[in-house]
Amino acid sequence: MEASKAETALPENRPTRSEQEFQDLLRRLELALDASRIGVWEHSIATSEILWDAQMHRLYETGETCREVPAWLWSNAIHPDDREQAEYDFDQAIATRGAYNSQFRIVLPSGEIRHLRSRAHFYVDAEGLPSFIGAEWDVTADVLLNAELAGQKMVAEARALALEESNARIEHVADHDYLTGLPNRRLLDKRLAELPADRSITTLGVLHLDLDQFKQINDSHGHAAGDAVLRAAALRITAAIPANGMVARVGGDEFVIVLVNFSDLAELKLITDDLQRRLRKKIRFGQEMLQSGASIGVSWSGDRRARNLLAESDLALYQAKKLGRNRVEFFTRQLQEDLRAKRRLAEELKLGLERGEIVPYYQVQLDARTREVIGFEALARWKHPEKGVLAPGIFLKIADEHGLAAEIDAAILKNVLEDRLFWLLQGFAVPRIAVNISASRLADPTLLGKLRKLDIPPDVIVFELVETIFLDDSDEKLLDHIGDIKQMGIDIEIDDFGSGHASLIGLVKLRPKRLKIDRQLIAEVVSSAEQRRVVGSIVEIAKALDVEVIAEGIETEAHAVVLAQLGCDGLQGYAFGYPAPAAETARLFSPMANGIEKQKAAVGGTAR
Ligand code: C2E
Ligand code: MG
Ligand code: MG
Repeated sequence: MEASKAETALPENRPTRSEQEFQDLLRRLELALDASRIGVWEHSIATSEILWDAQMHRLYETGETCREVPAWLWSNAIHPDDREQAEYDFDQAIATRGAYNSQFRIVLPSGEIRHLRSRAHFYVDAEGLPSFIGAEWDVTADVLLNAELAGQKMVAEARALALEESNARIEHVADHDYLTGLPNRRLLDKRLAELPADRSITTLGVLHLDLDQFKQINDSHGHAAGDAVLRAAALRITAAIPANGMVARVGGDEFVIVLVNFSDLAELKLITDDLQRRLRKKIRFGQEMLQSGASIGVSWSGDRRARNLLAESDLALYQAKKLGRNRVEFFTRQLQEDLRAKRRLAEELKLGLERGEIVPYYQVQLDARTREVIGFEALARWKHPEKGVLAPGIFLKIADEHGLAAEIDAAILKNVLEDRLFWLLQGFAVPRIAVNISASRLADPTLLGKLRKLDIPPDVIVFELVETIFLDDSDEKLLDHIGDIKQMGIDIEIDDFGSGHASLIGLVKLRPKRLKIDRQLIAEVVSSAEQRRVVGSIVEIAKALDVEVIAEGIETEAHAVVLAQLGCDGLQGYAFGYPAPAAETARLFSPMANGIEKQKAAVGGTAR
């Protein structure tokens, strides 16, 4: 197109200009070219004759001025990397008799690089020979500027990318568990919130999974072993669930799995069985083989509403653990009912505490040798407005789960102090009274302040701490706390001694005033020589540490006799009296109430 335009642009019968006009035009053109630093060249294709003007020589820094130049002058000057393309461009222009348009680098004699732009038109010269006339100019500055801009753009893009990546990393860290790399609770909640909007979901299942034996592995093999178990579990769970499922680590050894679009309950069961099988396999840790297992709670629904599935599967898990671990339990309405009932009970208990329905019953403790009253244990009872008097077995666990255990302890202590005052005012000599104290109350940093406000005289109140509180013998703070309590004149007793572990450590560290041997150890002492030896050893150790011993759960006179023989200092049990309300307890303080026969008569017939 351009070529034909160029050809027709030079009509033969153009009106001739005057010589003067022509000279003017030529000078102006030269001036303009000079000012613009554009070099002009001509290339006759037929003769291969090449003509350069002075500016061309300047552009190429040839140091020459000759008008005709050899072909190699141009091609030799071109940067070797650009030469092929530049020559190709020109050959193309010749072949098509079209416009020539190229850009290339030349290497100046000084070695410096210069970028040139070259454009030319095909035309037929006066002699009718095909030629090109072209212009060439220096575009180095533009090229360098463009290169710099491109460089800056690249840097900016790289920065943006890096920022995006680090944002993604931060997001990932916030949403994932560092140890296993699995999604965490936060991401799980996000996904669960998105599910209802996902119309592709037909069935939805939530599995709550808890590793069995994890705490033991952690305690006995160390945290590194625990970490290894968690990582292995994460991999195994991921391998066991379908690709469209999701698993999150939501707590120490707890995982939640979300499954979608499984066909039916049978498929769900296959997956849970597979999970259990994989998680039961041993894990190599250094030289050792560790074995864990899984308890799984499942809840599922035939649509995508996940509203309660998480809570329901948690409840099913709780049930699985309660029924002996290493098993799968499915959520049922019955479970839900139980949960509701428990919640209701917790609510009622809160109210009951406010209304003063939690009161102490008192169980007598006797000197093992003289059978004189040496003290009482205050045991919590709930005087429920409809259900009657409830024992702690019914409400203590729920209280613990709802953070009410400490309040119960406080209510009992307050009542005990009031009862004691009342008895004193009536002229009774009241022996020491033991109250039970829960782990949560003991851990309460404000406990000492609260106790001080009660103005408890020294040596009238004893705290019974269950042995399990001292499993973590490294808790120095707790020991300090207990030291302060002793300072207030409140003796410490270890309750249910022999029912748990680490008894001896607790004993040595804590230096209690007394320990109470668990009634399960007592039960067989009459019939079993071995049990007698066990109890005998406990007594011996206690004596060596200057700790008194009370035997709990004495149900028969035979028990009382054996335990006295074994060296126990005190005895407590149904044989001497059931826990009884304050009003009935007062009778035991009467001056006549000395000796076991009279005491038995006094408390006999009291309901448990
Ligand atoms: P515990 O402190 O070991 O109390 C002894 C339990 O054994 C009492 O059960 C008592 O009624 C029962 N018992 C007493 N003599 C005999 C006997 O001869 N045979 C049998 N089989 N049992 C006997 P209770 O009152 O049901 O209390 C159960 C547990 O609840 C207590 O065990 C104690 O750990 C806890 N508890 C009771 N009151 C409180 C409280 O105010 N605060 C806290 N934190 N825990 C309490
Ligand atoms: Mg007790
Ligand atoms: Mg006990």
